[in-house]
Order: sequence, then structure tokens, then C-alpha cells
Amino acid sequence: MKTASERTRGLGTTVFAEMSALALRTGAVNLGQGFPDTDGPASVVDAAVAAMRSGRNQYAPGPGTPELRRAVAAHQRRFYGIDLDPDTEVAVTTGATEAVAAALLGLVDPGDEVVVLEPYYDSYVAGIQMAGGVRRPVTLRWPDFRLDVDALRAAVTDRTRVLLLNTPHNPTGTVLTPDELAAVARVAVEHDLTVISDEVYEHLVFDGRVHVPICTLFGMAERTLTISSGGKTFSFTGWKIGWASGPATLVRAMVTAKQFLTFTSGAPLQPAIAEALGADDSFYTGTTRRLQDRRDQLCEGLDALGFDVKVPDGTYFATTDIRPLGFTDGLEFCLSLPERAGVVAVPHQVFHDDQDAGRPLVRWAFCKREEVLTEALGRLGALRGSVRP
Ligand code: PMP
Ligand code: GLN
Repeated sequence: MKTASERTRGLGTTVFAEMSALALRTGAVNLGQGFPDTDGPASVVDAAVAAMRSGRNQYAPGPGTPELRRAVAAHQRRFYGIDLDPDTEVAVTTGATEAVAAALLGLVDPGDEVVVLEPYYDSYVAGIQMAGGVRRPVTLRWPDFRLDVDALRAAVTDRTRVLLLNTPHNPTGTVLTPDELAAVARVAVEHDLTVISDEVYEHLVFDGRVHVPICTLFGMAERTLTISSGGKTFSFTGWKIGWASGPATLVRAMVTAKQFLTFTSGAPLQPAIAEALGADDSFYTGTTRRLQDRRDQLCEGLDALGFDVKVPDGTYFATTDIRPLGFTDGLEFCLSLPERAGVVAVPHQVFHDDQDAGRPLVRWAFCKREEVLTEALGRLGALRGSVRP
């Protein structure tokens, strides 16, 4: 009897599910999986409840409810000056995860090479594999995690069709600079690549940085499918309402696959996220400011414990090198951390082809309440002097 397809071979269980289960089992503080421990705005929950009560409980249109598609188009115009036709150039998905998977299924043929930044978000590996593609990673290296443009150029071959970009970048927290984005755009244009740009952390950038969608660079609008999600921006990761926008041809390719994966996405949640997207500037800036405070709290705490810390430009995550504390292998470190210190974190290794590059690095989520981070840092005090060989 056949029990698994080649397409899914080796994909296992996602590290996030594994680590959250470990946290539950051991009672550890969960700084592993990236989800906030505070809900988004009550008014947005009210809008979802109102949509349910007013009977919006049957299938939404395949590409998404018109008001959410209009709200996404309005958001892209308001923040980035991008003009989109909400009927043909925007589609709603079941989270950014489905948008990425459907985009890969809709755009990649077996044997096509997909260039991707590593450490990579784990669903990229699965999506590329399930589409029959071949991944070509470009490593962002500790301690700066900057883009090596020569490495990017070297990764592109005559079989490369797609560049799967992620900025702000999970897990490193890197926000690509205008120069880096321009270099990516030049490579994409020169090699006539399609770009899938995962921008789920677009609003979570710190220290006055500005997120720049790569589709706004010269020559990129016609070749970029931009993906985002309501999960991170509005702290509703469990709602799984995402979207993709870009040229009608690319959106159509994604929707063609999406319609046979889920057909449509959560009907009553879509008008609620549409309302959320229209929030005042103060909502967006307030969310970022609060998250930046938590970033600083966690990074300062980890630094005081003796880790080498990379303070992230954006996202929910900070990365540390664990070697100053006498550890060498992030996977072993994370598996034993609940027992040693009652905390869960995520090893970078699982996001790497280049295992050596990721081995000593560990990712910590700071999208948590102040007291939760205080508790976690207190517990991590148990590591002091515990291993130094
Ligand atoms: N891309 C990246 C880089 C992410 O970090 C995440 C999620 N956490 C996703 C996509 C998935 O987003 P969603 O939950 O909307 O599917
Ligand atoms: N994106 C979240 C993270 O990086 C997790 C999402 C998931 O569990 N798939 O932690």
C-alpha cells in the first residue's frame, strides 16, 4: 500500500507545530511559533461577528469578497502608491501560506528552478517541492544577514524561472535595503524572472524604516506577485485571510491553483479584514511601536544573558548565536531548552540547506506580552554557566 507521495516525501511536521506541541507538553514559555498572545482590535472581531450574524456564511466568491479586494487595492495605493484593479489584480487566499503555495503551483513547472533566500520560511520548501520545482537558496549570513548580490547572481541559471523573495524576512528580521532591492530587481529583469514577494511583515518594521514593495521598482510591476496577510498586521494569525496582488496574468495563475485547493476563503472574516485595512495611521504606527518595545526588551534581555544578538529590522523575531554560552548546535539546544530553562525557541538549521550557516543560530519570537517576555528571560537565567564546556 502506498502511504506517501514523492511530492510530500521528507516534508515531515513543520517545526512550528512541533515546537508549539513541545511547549504545551512541557509547560514552557512559547517563544517558538510566531503568533501574538494578544488579539487584534475588538472592533474587527465585532465586524466578523456582525458578518456571521447577517448571514455571510456561505461560499465567498472564489477570488475573494469585493470589499476585501477593494480594501487591499486601497491599502496598496495608500501606503505605496500602487494602482490595482480590484477585480483582476487582487485575490484573497487562505493566509499567505496558501497564496505562496498556489502561486508556486500556478507558476512553476517540474524542473524549473526557484531562487529563494535562506534561511527560508519552511512552507517555501514544501511549496517548491510540491510544484516539482528545484530550490536554489541564497544564504543570508550571520551576523549581518545582508543580501550577497554575487551569490544571488550565481544562483540564477538558465533554468531559473521564479525568484521567491521575503522582506521583511523571517527568520532573520532583515529588511532589504533600497540598494539590495534594486539589485534583486536588476537580476529579475535581466533574466526575465517572475518574482513572488512575500511581504506579510510589511507593517512590522522598526527604527523608522520604511517597507518598499519590490513591485514598485523599475521593471518589476509586470513581473511581481505581491503577497500579504491580515494575520501579522492585525494580530489574527488564526483567521488565515491573506491576499496576492499584481498583474492580472499572475493573479490568475495563482487563483487557478487556489480554486482547487480551497476554492474560497473564510467568508465572514473577509469583510472584517477589509475594515481593519482601513484603520487610521495611528493603528499601524501604534502596533509597530509596541512591537518594537517588545523587540528591545527581548534583545536586551538575551544580550544580558550572554547571547550574541542580531537586533532585527522588522518581523516578530530576533536571532541569537548560542556559542558564547557554550552551545554549538541550535537544534539540540532548542530540543533541550524546555527542560533546561522552560522556554521554547526555534533553530535556524531547519530553514537551511547550508546546515553549517544555521547550526549555531536560534530564533526567538517577541510578539508576546511584556510579562511573558520577562518570565521567559527570567527562566533563561538558568542557562548561565550551565554548559560552558
Ligand atoms: N510567510 C512568512 C514569511 C511567514 O512568517 C508566515 C507566517 N507566519 C506566512 C508566510 C504565513 O502567513 P499566514 O499565516 O497568513 O498563512
Ligand atoms: N509564521 C509563523 C512563524 O514563523 C508560524 C506559522 C506556522 O506555524 N505555520 O513562526
